Amino acid sequence: MGNPTGFLKVERALPEDRHPKERLIDWLEVHEHMPEEGIKEQASRCMDCGVPFCQSGESQYAPVVAGCPVNNVIPEWNDLVYNGRWKEAVQLLHKTNNFPEFTGRVCPAPCEGSCVLGINADPVTIKHHEYAIIERAFEEGWVVAEPPARRTGKTVAVIGSGPAGLAAAAQLNKAGHMVTVYERADRIGGLLMYGIPNMKLQKEIVQRRVDILAEEGIVFVTNTEVGKDISTDDLKANFDSVVIATGATVPRDLPAEGRQLNGIHFAMEFLGKNTKSLLDSNHADGEYIDAKDKNVVVIGGGDTGTDCVGTSLRHGCKSVIQLEIMPEPEAQRADNNPWPQWPKVKLVDYGQQEAVAVQGDDPRDYQMMTKHIEGDDSGNVKAVHTVGIEWQKTDDGRMVPVEIAGTEKVYPADIVLLAMGFMGPEGGLLDALGVEKDARSNAKAEYDNFATNVPGVFAAGDARRGQSLIVWAIDEGRRAAREVDSFLMGKSYLP
Ligand code: FAD
Repeated sequence: MGNPTGFLKVERALPEDRHPKERLIDWLEVHEHMPEEGIKEQASRCMDCGVPFCQSGESQYAPVVAGCPVNNVIPEWNDLVYNGRWKEAVQLLHKTNNFPEFTGRVCPAPCEGSCVLGINADPVTIKHHEYAIIERAFEEGWVVAEPPARRTGKTVAVIGSGPAGLAAAAQLNKAGHMVTVYERADRIGGLLMYGIPNMKLQKEIVQRRVDILAEEGIVFVTNTEVGKDISTDDLKANFDSVVIATGATVPRDLPAEGRQLNGIHFAMEFLGKNTKSLLDSNHADGEYIDAKDKNVVVIGGGDTGTDCVGTSLRHGCKSVIQLEIMPEPEAQRADNNPWPQWPKVKLVDYGQQEAVAVQGDDPRDYQMMTKHIEGDDSGNVKAVHTVGIEWQKTDDGRMVPVEIAGTEKVYPADIVLLAMGFMGPEGGLLDALGVEKDARSNAKAEYDNFATNVPGVFAAGDARRGQSLIVWAIDEGRRAAREVDSFLMGKSYLP
């Protein structure tokens, strides 16, 4: 450990994001790099704890203590960064995380929420170090294709090309199997490509990694929906094993009067079309839902809601409001929980910052439940009618939302975006494969072996776990790959 007293002398610091008004006129990432000397200084704050909770992943104490799901060896690479040993740092980082360029940008960093320094001071800027290590590695040309030395003759089909599918494919390819990834969209990446918008993750960053994976020998087949364009029987007949990594794509709907009106869209339609049109033609094709000069109401918080706010503002919307119902108080962080960042209640993210810069205040209105949506004579949405709620305990101990009389509010709306989360994977494919579902309609498979009830068919990522995070998808893809490898070879040397 290079600087044992760094944590006593150096305060947490991060580079300022680009100013909201500057970044609203483009679709580039909002974050800035920190100069090398600054990063080294920040890395010196790591205390190299005897028990590094930051890298611990899920633990019996979760969610209070839940560090990095992929078990990044954070104190070790913090020290390498402090000492300027960047090449060794990236080698170590790649041992546990196939795609640090994604998590270094958009992970909510449970590692920082678990940083022991965070009990008495601000946590170490771990996420930014991860970002700095991998970007330095790409700049230096250290990240190159490393095809396996020999092939096993076994074949694996991965359905879905999000972070879970890509991580599984990368690991299985490393083990020497021939991997084909099927993706129904026209570009590879799942929500990395068509969910998370450019200002959080520029798409050339995704493509840069996909190109390396292709060079390593993974075959990518786009515009191909398994179960429709290629039958599940063909898949099972032509491959020795199958990994389901299709994500949790069924959106939660709003059962409110007026739902059928024109101008009400699921968030993913709005975000996905926006990115595709941007990539295809810089929006010249007009094949997206344009919020310019419109009043936008986003129903739902979380990453998806925030991304809708940021996207609407970049279109030049007239106004944007985000309605968010916070969880019942008992599900929020307890007052005596010393861990500073878990869970992130009422987090101000980039979209809210931008709304403040444009509109003068936070776009969010809390605890407002949608009662009905009003339309005009042409069947277009006109306004969202809401009422305030509070959580109350029923006689049998359940917390339920109860309307508060006199708190009714009406929001003018030309576009309503539904960002209320996802219910699970689409059932058709699982049925066609004969895969059992769990109580939440996800593919049924245990976390530690990822095997479904169908021999040779495995499931990973949001399709198994329900809507989650990129880092969990990478973790599941990696672990599922090890199980597939064992199934095919009788044992596995994959981590
Ligand atoms: P996905 O990324 O959903 O990929 C599944 C892929 O499977 C899709 O491309 C789909 O087209 C394809 N597919 C489905 N069915 C078939 C079929 N039958 N045949 C072929 N292909 C098929 N997480 C974070 O950590 N940080 C964030 O900032 C963040 N922001 C988010 C913003 C939004 C708008 C959303 C929706 C999610 C966000 N998440 C974020 C969550 C994260 O993106 C997901 O948890 C993660 O992408 C799940 O990975 P996955 O590989 O399991 O599935």
